[in-house]
Amino acid sequence: MSEFFDKEFRSASGLDWDDTTDDEGSRRGFIAGLDEMVIKGKDGAAVWDLRDYAFLQREEAPATVNPSLWRQARLNMAAGLFKVTDRVYQVRGFDLSVVSFIQGDDGWIVIDPLISKECAAAAIDLVRRQVEDRPVSAVIYTHSHIDHFGGVGGVISREDVTAGRARVIAPQGFMEAAISENLIAGTAMTRRAAYMYGSLLPRGPKGQVDAALGKMASQGTVTMVVPTDYVDTTGAEMKVDGVDIVFQVTPGTEAPAEMNFFFPAFSALCMAENCSHNMHNILTLRGAQVRDARAWSNYLDEAIGLFGSESELVFTSHHWPVWGRERLLEYMKKQRDMYRYLHDQTVRMINRGDTGIEIAENFELPDDLAREWYNRGYYGSVNHNVKAIYQRYMGCFDGNPAHLHPLPHVEAGRKYVEYMGGADALLAKAREAYAKGEYRWVAQVVNHLVFAEDNEQARSLQADALEQMGYQTENATWRNFYLSGAMELRDGVKEAQIAGTGAAPLDIVACLGPEMIFDAMAVHLNGPKAAGKKAVINLRFTDTGQEYHLLLENSVLNHGEGALEGADVTMSLPRATLDAIVAGAADPKAAFGSGAVSVEGDGGKLGELFSLLDADVFWFNIVTP
Ligand SMILES: [Zn+2]
Repeated sequence: MSEFFDKEFRSASGLDWDDTTDDEGSRRGFIAGLDEMVIKGKDGAAVWDLRDYAFLQREEAPATVNPSLWRQARLNMAAGLFKVTDRVYQVRGFDLSVVSFIQGDDGWIVIDPLISKECAAAAIDLVRRQVEDRPVSAVIYTHSHIDHFGGVGGVISREDVTAGRARVIAPQGFMEAAISENLIAGTAMTRRAAYMYGSLLPRGPKGQVDAALGKMASQGTVTMVVPTDYVDTTGAEMKVDGVDIVFQVTPGTEAPAEMNFFFPAFSALCMAENCSHNMHNILTLRGAQVRDARAWSNYLDEAIGLFGSESELVFTSHHWPVWGRERLLEYMKKQRDMYRYLHDQTVRMINRGDTGIEIAENFELPDDLAREWYNRGYYGSVNHNVKAIYQRYMGCFDGNPAHLHPLPHVEAGRKYVEYMGGADALLAKAREAYAKGEYRWVAQVVNHLVFAEDNEQARSLQADALEQMGYQTENATWRNFYLSGAMELRDGVKEAQIAGTGAAPLDIVACLGPEMIFDAMAVHLNGPKAAGKKAVINLRFTDTGQEYHLLLENSVLNHGEGALEGADVTMSLPRATLDAIVAGAADPKAAFGSGAVSVEGDGGKLGELFSLLDADVFWFNIVTP
């Protein structure tokens, strides 16, 4: 990336590069950090390490990082314990997310205990050493994403809950949402999340610098404690450890189950992840269901009406708080209007006949919104959010029948290459385009050759183009996608050790209803292989006494409550054994051999069913066929 680009970007951005409000906000109330910013797991391996980011100490952006993203990457480096206001604390920079601590009458109320239990434990340890050593009286999950509950095991145990020492509060629909996002399409999402966060990239000016919401996702132990209290209505009030809390439920915003809440005694408003210091995703690049920008905006408007006039500060579960009523109102209003503008203008243009790609190409936020740092597209982007809104209403088909039944990439690639006069001719032209800085076009056209044949020169040129786009983009997730793709084009897919490569964590599986487990099994059934097969299997959980049946026919696996008459086979087992098999923590054959599972009837039918269940493939190709 040239110095020219850097200067051009800075002046064209209209951004106030001398504004220090965020720098001050990210450091305000700092109490203490760790001597060394590394958190280790049981085996001594780092699950979180900020030392790799020392290169960010330099203020000026290097030529290989967009200066606006560099600024955000530096802001996300503020790590440690911070006092937000009396009785409200946050630990930031201990994971992708931020954990908040409210001083109740007797204990700590913990809001959003990070991804990994090791990180959450380190956070509360710091709070106990620096502020007050007291137990955790309650945990609040603001929403159903794993970076807001996975570390709960580091602050409370299930025994704390059953013994009545701690309660766990979550929005209505939390469990279903938490699980459906992590279970059904979890493997593919996790593989793509590694691209989105740049987990496999080296840290550095030519590698991963940030993940927009924070530095990176931690790699420790994911845990789950099922909520004891669900909030289902806006205006609901609760006294938690002597502290009054007023809730606003915001389903279908940043997460399917999410809530904001207000602490009248502290004039403090928690906006969950509905506000943040960047434009958020209407559709995340790792893959997810499209969110509703209109509902999101409406709920922000409602929050302003409910709590705005009483709030003196807003804190969230990523980034730093905003203090002062005037500033927080402006912040909330401009975030509201940013999502509203994206939604309304996209729909306006849909109804004039434009497609997603066309609308996104020239879409710009008005200056008043675009120039606020907290509206910059570090996480979501104007471009992919506009396409997401198109997708929500219109789907992925743009209406042009020429796009209705296209050839797949490999076949199309071969034809394109042939029509362009062969690989050498295509490469020669693409190199000219590269020299002119037409990186988007190079990536688009060379991709045909990459998919058409095993061509090292094509992969290399493709990687060059992706890297240039990665260095230029303001968006952290785009950068990570580009650079991860370039890395795999150059080196191939390397199976690396990253957390959560496939099956759901055992702690989460143990919290699932049996129906959810059976749904997860059903999406592994190899339909073509199951053609013509029939089986009726009864299942009895020896510990809970519950009975279910599985029905294999028509190449689908249905399930229901209760045992069926005339089943081929009945399998009895403790629920924990099934959990371990589903989570990949136990081998089915070993479980059967161990005596934990007893089988009555035709055991062959069980073996047949298991043989029809496909294992997920985690390290699938993305940038090559
Ligand atoms: Zn989050």
